[in-house]
Amino acid sequence: MTLAAAQAGKCTKGIDPTVSCGNCDAVCCRLTVVLMPEDRVPRHLTTRTGHGLEVMARDEEGWCVAVDQNRMCCSIYEQRPAVCRKFAMGSEYCRDERRIYREQMQRGIPLTLRDE
Ligand code: SF4
Ligand code: SF4
Repeated sequence: MTLAAAQAGKCTKGIDPTVSCGNCDAVCCRLTVVLMPEDRVPRHLTTRTGHGLEVMARDEEGWCVAVDQNRMCCSIYEQRPAVCRKFAMGSEYCRDERRIYREQMQRGIPLTLRDE
């Protein structure tokens, strides 16, 4: 699943105001971020999929390489891609990602790339 797909689906519905990025491990930053032509992201943070799509590169555990690992937030916030700007905190999709991550952690499932 990509951030764009999430937006096209359900992420704008049913915002839960109690959900906060402040107590989240930036789990939405493990989704594939497809870049748009208008995005101005530093090129060394991007890569291409086997299908030729330009995306944000991810580390071996699946997080976008732009995540500040100390603060678990976006290190290029002012330059973040369009799809990241539209992802809604507290949306259904946000909550789904948080739940999936929490379940993986509780069950000790290794965090790996899911959808390249
Ligand atoms: S938008 Fe949701 S999943 Fe992403 S960092 Fe914020 S709370 Fe976490
Ligand atoms: S660019 Fe920033 S907001 Fe977007 S996935 Fe990467 S770290 Fe998260």
